[in-house]
Amino acid sequence: MECPFCMIAAGTIPADLVHADDRVVAFRDINPQAPVHVLVIPREHHGNVGALATANPELLGDLLAAAAQIAADEDLDAGYRLVINTGGDGGQTVDHVHVHLLGGRHLTWPPG
Ligand code: 5GP
Ligand code: ZN
Repeated sequence: MECPFCMIAAGTIPADLVHADDRVVAFRDINPQAPVHVLVIPREHHGNVGALATANPELLGDLLAAAAQIAADEDLDAGYRLVINTGGDGGQTVDHVHVHLLGGRHLTWPPG
C-alpha cells in the first residue's frame, strides 16, 4: 500500500500545505488537536524517528528547524509543543516520520 504522507509530499493527494522545500513539507493535520496543528515531514520516506536519525540526522535537524520557523510564522510566541509519536505504544498511526507542531492553546502535561 502507498504511504499517505509520501503521496502528500508528491502532491498525489491534497493537503493544506504551510511549507514546502526540497527536503521538508508541512501541512495542517486533518484532525486537529489544537488551534494550530501542523505535521512536518521529510520528503524522503523513513518509518520512524530512529530510522531517520540513523540514516540522515541532518534531515531530522531540518524538520525541527522548519517546525520552529512555522511556529514563528503562526505567531506561537506564547509557546508550542513538538511531538514525534513512535510505535504502537507511542500512538504512531502513520509509518512515515512526522513532527506534530501543536499550539494556540495551553497544553497540559503529562499527555494522555
Ligand atoms: P500519528 O498518530 O501517527 O502520530 O499522527 C498521524 C496524524 O496524521 C494524525 O494526527 C492524523 O490526524 C493525521 N493524518 C492522517 N492521515 C492524514 C491525511 O491524509 N491528511 C492529513 N492532513 N492528516 C492526516
Ligand atoms: Zn512515506
